[in-house]
Amino acid sequence: METVTITLDGREVSGYPGMTILDLARESGVEIPTLCHDPCLPPAGACRVCLVEDERTGALLASCVAPIAPGMIINTRSDRVIESRKTIVKLMLASHPDSCLVCDKGNRCQLRQVASDMGIGLLGLQRLPQTATIDEVNPFLERDLSKCILCAKCIRACQDLVVQGAIDYFQRGFATRPATLSDLPLEDSECTFCGTCVALCPTGALTEKDKSYRGTSATVVSTTCPFCGCGCGLRLEVKDNSIVRVTPDRESTINNAALCVKGSYGCDFVHSTDRLTTPLVRRNHALEPTSWDEALELVATRFREIRDAYGSSTLAVLGSSKCTNEENYLLQRFARTALGTNNIDNGSRLYSSAARVGLGSTVGSYGSTTHLSDLERSQVIMVFGADPSSSAPIVEYAVKRAVKKGSARLILVDPRRTSLAPFAHIWLRPRPGTDVALITGLAKVIADEGLLDEEFVARRTDNFEAFVHNLQAHPLELVEEVAGVPLPDVCTVARLYATADRTAIVCGTGITQHPNATDTVKALANLALLTGNAARAGGGILVLQQDNNGQGACDMGALPDFFPGYQSVTDARARERFQELWGVELPANPGLSALEIVDNAHQGSTRGIYVVGENPVLSFPQSQSVANAMASLDFLVVQDIFLTETARLANVVLPAASFAEKEGTFTNFEGRLHAVQPAIGPVGESLPDSDILLRLSRKMDAPMPYSSIQQVMNEIADISGLPAYSSYQGPDYSRAGPTSPSWPGSNDSPWDTALRHGGQFLKGFARFCAVEWTSRRKADSDYPLTLLTGATLCHHGTGTRSSRAPRLSRFHPHALLELGASDATGLGIGHGDRVRVVSPVGQVTATVRITDALSQGACFLPTSFPDTPVNQLFASTLDPEAKAPSLKACSVRIERTAGDE
Ligand code: SF4
Repeated sequence: METVTITLDGREVSGYPGMTILDLARESGVEIPTLCHDPCLPPAGACRVCLVEDERTGALLASCVAPIAPGMIINTRSDRVIESRKTIVKLMLASHPDSCLVCDKGNRCQLRQVASDMGIGLLGLQRLPQTATIDEVNPFLERDLSKCILCAKCIRACQDLVVQGAIDYFQRGFATRPATLSDLPLEDSECTFCGTCVALCPTGALTEKDKSYRGTSATVVSTTCPFCGCGCGLRLEVKDNSIVRVTPDRESTINNAALCVKGSYGCDFVHSTDRLTTPLVRRNHALEPTSWDEALELVATRFREIRDAYGSSTLAVLGSSKCTNEENYLLQRFARTALGTNNIDNGSRLYSSAARVGLGSTVGSYGSTTHLSDLERSQVIMVFGADPSSSAPIVEYAVKRAVKKGSARLILVDPRRTSLAPFAHIWLRPRPGTDVALITGLAKVIADEGLLDEEFVARRTDNFEAFVHNLQAHPLELVEEVAGVPLPDVCTVARLYATADRTAIVCGTGITQHPNATDTVKALANLALLTGNAARAGGGILVLQQDNNGQGACDMGALPDFFPGYQSVTDARARERFQELWGVELPANPGLSALEIVDNAHQGSTRGIYVVGENPVLSFPQSQSVANAMASLDFLVVQDIFLTETARLANVVLPAASFAEKEGTFTNFEGRLHAVQPAIGPVGESLPDSDILLRLSRKMDAPMPYSSIQQVMNEIADISGLPAYSSYQGPDYSRAGPTSPSWPGSNDSPWDTALRHGGQFLKGFARFCAVEWTSRRKADSDYPLTLLTGATLCHHGTGTRSSRAPRLSRFHPHALLELGASDATGLGIGHGDRVRVVSPVGQVTATVRITDALSQGACFLPTSFPDTPVNQLFASTLDPEAKAPSLKACSVRIERTAGDE
């Protein structure tokens, strides 16, 4: 590689063309102060504190933007350089308020640090009066622009890192400041309050609002975000056993300096006064506090009695896509050994099991086939049935960066306009539930026009003939008729997808929560196989996971049909391995999936359920019916951090510790293993789920022999026999950081591991699966509108945690029903009206928000508001293979409410 050699402080050093003087200096161990520079932002040369001198020309150069050139003689420490830097910093201080003692930035202020390092004391300059007002209407951040040094870090973070573009320079000269378009308040702008600007601001110009502590925190702990499946690295700043601030973990390759509003401000739930602090048992129809010993004794006794009287198959466990890998491993072992049942499932059944089943039967992996970092190298990105802006903001940032840099073209497939629509080169709006027809149409165009990768198909796949045969029976006209997408658009997208070298697909619950979800995932996998993208770096399929550990819970075997590592419970050799390891006879038949468990409870054949970290009364379809089933059980145990709607029905409630109070790992949507570390002690008498499980197993006379979480991980690694499980090998906790290798990869870099299917698919050949479009929804004139559901940026899941994060719930307190203007007019409904949304099986109330994001005949409700339990509107219709409920679209009517409903 070509190199450029310069003289730096009298020493010859070499870099590569395009490198800046600052980059090369830092690489060579030479410190140059900066205020506006950050490696994750494009350099701006705004503060000039990094001045250096080129001795050949005598020029003072801002080293962060000056590229190295052959023969340069750079001095970073000359008297002239030092004096110039000091003058610049003094000028900044002269227009800075004297508020250091009360400024929240405190010892973290970089301006103060740089001034102190330069030995700047009295300024000797006339001070400029500061008249800026403090902007603090929103619940998240405070803007005191009198402290702004115009470094533009906030502007670049907003425009180049999260690509939101909410702020820019406003006005000129002394009046210049960062501001929103037309200087609107932040809450009326495009700002999503992701907190990235606050994390990067070098002074006290941008600080967190509602801080529980002003000053320097005592300890800082790196851990992993407990909300969505991105797995962002967080730094929890702790003082007096309280989390006082959350900032991005700059070591994380997932998020670096960025977070979303939930990561930055949502962890407040940890200190909610609603936290369960003691075990509760039901006495005389009321839940009363009790001791751990009494609670666990009662649980063990009742589970034993039910098992012995009615058989193990009458017991079931609902595990959690929010708990750690180690906890899920212990939980499935507890279910299989202490209770003797394979009736165990986890929350990801509701949102991603179709992807697991669909990808398992095509490309042979049980999750995403590529990495987030590859996305920015894709030439085309197809976001299909996913709204990462709300459900996985870090993915949204990556997609927007790829488009903004000009390296990628975006195909958006979504019936509702999302925040990605302005970035899309083409936006298809298929009718809800018709995706298989659309995707099959895309495949047909690719095959008919010879745009497929024949060599790849011949060498790496099987069942191609059956797939093509099915395509031939699929007239293209059907696509337009069924999906409502114009044929020319289908052809354009097919050609765009197939002719790019690297095309990635990002899919989410818009795919996986429909009644034919598994077929849709198979159809997407067929596309990736047809074009060879399935095995290309920058190609492949990314499946978004709703919860922080949906992938890990499944990898750990919190499933009715698989032991850890996707080893089938019906495979005698696998069963023998686990029997030998755990020393007990294991059930040989697959157990019940989550909704089957509830269904069996209705029928009386499930008598006892242990719910850990899930809230089925709100998250499952037909909430009232689920509540009835839970209430009818002989015995219900709920282990959670809050008294959820499900916990209120329990016989025993066990208080669990939150993510901030325990140790372990989460596996993100790409399959990366991320560390979870305790920052504070458990609240009240709560205990980590792992401790509870170990104590309970002893009470059940089925003790599990672990004295540390590391020992659990060691066993997880030991029993893994499949390549798909390889990321759990090498059980050293020091590896479980944000940059750890990905499943099903190796120790290679993400770019290399994206090629992990390059040699061989996990099951040898990838398999085409012919799929047929069938409609499950029938038109019903009593329910003329189509309700779409989805995530919302400020809240998560059923809202159990996010609704208890005061700043999130203050900003977004209630569910809003989005409705198009023409539908609203036809119904005589206006913006802000309260309405009742009625489906054939249930009803909820919500406030109307008129929007132009929806086609006529469609409306939208977010899922995360306990007082608007949207899932109540859905019948229990399951995808036949994934056994996942349909929770994405249903037919409804809208009625005005009478009064205060
Ligand atoms: Fe947490 Fe997801 Fe937001 Fe990252 S994108 S901060 S993981 S909620």
